[in-house]
Amino acid sequence: MFRMKSRLSKWMFAVYLLIASVCVGPISAQSKNVSPVAPGAERVKAVVTEAYEKFRGDTGGKNADYIPYLAKVDSKLFGVAVVTTDNQVFALGDVKYSFSIQSIAKVFSLALAMEESGPDKVFEKIGSEPTGRAFNSPVAVVDMPSHTANPLVNAGAIATVSLISGSTADEKWDKILDFYSKVAGEKLTLIDEVYKSEAATNTGNKALSYLLAKYDRIYADPFESVDVYTKECSVGVNATQLARMGATLANNGVNPATGERVIKEEDIPHILSTMMMAGLYDGSGGWAWHVGLPAKSGVGGGIVAIVPGKGAIAVFAPPLDEAGNSVKAQKVIEYVANKLDFNLYSPSSVGLK
Ligand code: GLN
Repeated sequence: MFRMKSRLSKWMFAVYLLIASVCVGPISAQSKNVSPVAPGAERVKAVVTEAYEKFRGDTGGKNADYIPYLAKVDSKLFGVAVVTTDNQVFALGDVKYSFSIQSIAKVFSLALAMEESGPDKVFEKIGSEPTGRAFNSPVAVVDMPSHTANPLVNAGAIATVSLISGSTADEKWDKILDFYSKVAGEKLTLIDEVYKSEAATNTGNKALSYLLAKYDRIYADPFESVDVYTKECSVGVNATQLARMGATLANNGVNPATGERVIKEEDIPHILSTMMMAGLYDGSGGWAWHVGLPAKSGVGGGIVAIVPGKGAIAVFAPPLDEAGNSVKAQKVIEYVANKLDFNLYSPSSVGLK
């Protein structure tokens, strides 16, 4: 009886597949014409708009002030942008304003270092462990067995810059800026005032670089590496440009606007897992718990979150929480991710719901 039933159901399933393929065509041909945005572009727009309205009046947090320029940025600025892997753009609010990318740059220097040296070497020279401490902690450099900890805290990011090849600091910098521009799909530039403001006050980062030298965990001149790192943090992006940089990661390393492959496909999982583990510093565990998307924050007020295969959302709002993460950006992304069921750890993301 059981056998007969299973034979019958197999037969019925085969007929079903046949009818389905006649009706909708082969799956590959069908999926080509379908936007990867799920559950549909209109729904995404509606939810992002809802989140924008819900949180625009939120006054939590405070601008970063240890970089004097950042303290002066209008704390009411608020922009949200979504770019999908098929390059649909949806943007709301102050999305033309160019803010400093700050720590979000670290993600793309990690990508460039892997482009040049491969993931194994980067893992060996930098590592990928959470510190549980502030992003600029010298204690973490002393305490962590690798000292560098991971590429997304200041010490690990300065060491990552030191791995990038170039006979002079200028050559390295030009290469980094050119790489970021390819990821964004348009020419990015340095915000000179941010660079000057940070370069005049970055004694803590210089100390980190010398501490790394003590442990042999910096691979070029320490102060020169800090200077190139300070420049990369001072690159200007608007929310749409940042979302497109994220969409390049979501699109497996191919920029959705230019079609150019910028990052190797095999490097993407290493980048996204590092973002999940340390993208929001010592707020990363809470972020994984509530949102479940790889993301990266910067003290300029930006956060970009990646929905692999679908797209990226970038939010810019300067006031930060204690860990250095934009308060409004976290709220908006959490709201959107939960409403649209984007959490990578939710059963539905692997087709179980
Ligand atoms: N440039 C900043 C610094 O070095 C970056 C920190 C950040 O965005 N969290 O402190």
